Amino acid sequence: MTHFAHLIIGTGQATGTLLGKLIPTNETIGVIEADKVGGSCVNYGCTPTKTLVASAKAFYQAKRGDFYGFHSENLTLDFSTVRDRMNSIRNGSSNGLASWMNNTPNVTLIMGKASFTGDKKIKVNDQTYTADNIYINIGTRPSAPPIPGLDTVNWLDSARLLDLENIPEHLIVIGGGYIGVEFAQVYRRFGARVSIIQRNSQLMPREDKDVADAIKEFIENEGITIYCGANTTNIIQKSDHKEVEIEINGASKTLSGDQILVAAGRTPNSDTLNLENTGIKTNTRGFIEVDTYCQTTVEGVFAVGDVNGHGGFTHTAVNDAEIVLDRLFEGGRTLGDRNMVYGLFTDPPLGRVGLTEKEAIKSGKKVLKAIKPMSKISRAKEMGETNGFVKILVDAETDLILGASILGVGGDEIINMFATLIHSNITYKEYRKVVLVHPTVSELMPWTLDGLQEIK
Ligand SMILES: Cc1cc2nc3c(=O)[nH]c(=O)nc-3n(C[C@H](O)[C@H](O)[C@H](O)COP(=O)(O)OP(=O)(O)OC[C@H]3O[C@@H](n4cnc5c(N)ncnc54)[C@H](O)[C@@H]3O)c2cc1C
Repeated sequence: MTHFAHLIIGTGQATGTLLGKLIPTNETIGVIEADKVGGSCVNYGCTPTKTLVASAKAFYQAKRGDFYGFHSENLTLDFSTVRDRMNSIRNGSSNGLASWMNNTPNVTLIMGKASFTGDKKIKVNDQTYTADNIYINIGTRPSAPPIPGLDTVNWLDSARLLDLENIPEHLIVIGGGYIGVEFAQVYRRFGARVSIIQRNSQLMPREDKDVADAIKEFIENEGITIYCGANTTNIIQKSDHKEVEIEINGASKTLSGDQILVAAGRTPNSDTLNLENTGIKTNTRGFIEVDTYCQTTVEGVFAVGDVNGHGGFTHTAVNDAEIVLDRLFEGGRTLGDRNMVYGLFTDPPLGRVGLTEKEAIKSGKKVLKAIKPMSKISRAKEMGETNGFVKILVDAETDLILGASILGVGGDEIINMFATLIHSNITYKEYRKVVLVHPTVSELMPWTLDGLQEIK
């Protein structure tokens, strides 16, 4: 039996943050990983997908040569170079993290699957480890929805899609959330025919309808077929293709494709840990219950990242780790203080922070709203990228910004400015006075506020 001061299970992004502050204590640290070091973000999520988004955008923009004033006929995609670029970046990050741990004297990296045999007792490869503090950072995995016939075909999840060596002829995407939508646009731009089957009546159902409709419109304009309010009723493997049967508006329809991506939610990995041997509780969906400091129902055992159900993004996983470190050392951050911010990395991207319009209205506050289309923003026009719009919501009583949705070029970067304003409690009237660089898309954000009107 080996004892550590700190034992971290899983090497998602929260783990790097924890190590940054735990290593200088010179206390002993064990880190357990069942698969690739770096977790989903580096190996299967943010990093590889954003390299694909970049390649797809470059290819798409090159094809718009006539618009920008150059000739770009007969462009071809070299998908193996696209994949090499993706693999070299994701492998570089994973190897870099592993070598950091392996070369740090007070860190022991243990490869294997962890499971609990007691509150603070872990088994990996028949070895037992104990620790003063345990940090569970084991993430989630793609869900396999109970669709008849799904288990009879060779379907792809978001990780397996990244291993494809060829562009599908027709990629059928089941699920119209952010993962499905990002992949749909990327593969469409690489030349595949793409269809999205979305059970909800709205694509991107967590967004306001105006935002979701705008995203739907611009990806449809690129040639993606979207079936909203569609139920997948059966999947059949034919000799050289797959058939997906759907029900939409009371009628049946069959789609034929060579590849199926299922992007219909994620399942927490807590079921891999034998938590029944501990006092650690999970909720009905399998997420580990934590208090506002990310501590589980067992003192000294923390759960950070997607597995605690409070985030679902790399930046929230990192923030969870910072909250735990504040609890252990100094600083007062809690889960309750966090303003939700996120990006959808389509082209153009969406950045969203704080409340949606739906949520703001539901809050019962008196809400002011300002909207500006990207087509009215000079820099967007100059760049020839005018899809989307900006929506800013303000609390009429306090003048504080309640939320913002920035759908348009630079939206994924601009949103961080709104996150900062909300975090710092800066009123919109104060923000209106700031001088910003011209010509930029962000310079128009304070000006957009001149259009604030009460939502009736
Ligand atoms: C396609 C895709 C795109 C994404 N894009 C973005 C994005 O653009 N921006 C963003 O913020 N987020 C994005 N995400 C989400 C992001 O990847 C996760 O929120 C982030 O990785 C945080 O995960 P985590 O640290 O909780 O766990 P993970 O990163 O999943 O790490 C968990 C680790 O624990 C290991 N593990 C699991 N069980 C055990 C066990 N029993 N024993 C030992 N080890 C175990 C796993 O092998 C894994 O390495 C994306 C996700 C996907 C799938």
